[in-house]
Amino acid sequence: MVDVEAVLNYSYKRAREDDDPLVGLETPSSPKIRRTEAPQIPGHESVNYYFDDGNVIIFAPNTRFRVHQGVLSKHSSYFRDIFAALPVDGGETLDECPVVRVEESPQTVKWLLDTMYDGADCAILKMRNKITLSQLVNIFRAGDKYNAQHLRKAALHRLRVLFPADLQEWAPFDERKKIANIVESGDLGQRLIELTKVLVLIRDFPELKKILPLVLYTGCQLPITVLSGSGKHPAWPKRSSGTTGYKNLCLLAIPTLVERRLEVFSALATPVAHCQEALLTITYHVLLSGNITARPCALEDIIPWCKLHPSWDELCRPCAKTVEDNVNSLRLEVWSDLETIFGIPE
Ligand SMILES: [Zn+2]
Repeated sequence: MVDVEAVLNYSYKRAREDDDPLVGLETPSSPKIRRTEAPQIPGHESVNYYFDDGNVIIFAPNTRFRVHQGVLSKHSSYFRDIFAALPVDGGETLDECPVVRVEESPQTVKWLLDTMYDGADCAILKMRNKITLSQLVNIFRAGDKYNAQHLRKAALHRLRVLFPADLQEWAPFDERKKIANIVESGDLGQRLIELTKVLVLIRDFPELKKILPLVLYTGCQLPITVLSGSGKHPAWPKRSSGTTGYKNLCLLAIPTLVERRLEVFSALATPVAHCQEALLTITYHVLLSGNITARPCALEDIIPWCKLHPSWDELCRPCAKTVEDNVNSLRLEVWSDLETIFGIPE
């Protein structure tokens, strides 16, 4: 239920954009309906959503959407309550339509309207345009706030692709990003900020708690200088006190993850019936191939690395299978221990 009284008494604050790294760290507040006279409506009309017969103006920072109260009310109990409480006269109007100001970015509002006007499938298709992780967080929040279930579900689906529930669905983050059509800033500090926004989202929505270990694990893959905040970025925004705890969870877990990584690696040295020589050559090669053993990437599959070496083809089938099985069962153990590794309470 919307606290309409609170909404009506709210005064409009500064514009917030999706790419403001700090947006989304606080629960978004309610839309505002201005009661003051002589309104000034800056910005421009939306290219996609400015209907001549629209009967309400949704005003996101710098963009006006002229849409239909009936359509929005059908898909969002939030808007239904807001429209029901619009003042009969004396309220802010434009083109004879009442104006409802929201603080979501125009892009988020457009996604919201896509789901309402074009249906869920269409909106999900349109979201195939590459989005950023923080936009995804904002989409989820908007879907939740406006009780727009299609949008919320679409965002939830993408979060679950990025941070899956099973090891079988797990793949290096770059691959998962491709599937979920996420673009990520090349800037590592910015990446940390984006992950932090996901962490704060999890804090606000306990139903997302399942993805927490993987989000933290993904954070652990960032360079330690970024994680510890010694880079130039305010990597863990001070504004949200809760997030310092997340940073510590990552830093504390790294030694364990490195240790577990070496354990997985040691599966290569498991005695096999024969083929010892080829296996040793491969082990040596992987060991020499650099940072793979020293990074906290205990979930990563090392078999593809092994297969790069010509000696892999010299292994007989049973030996190759034994090695693969051993590696995978150790990875699975790490997977099921993630919550413990990060010290996440039940
Ligand atoms: Zn063999």
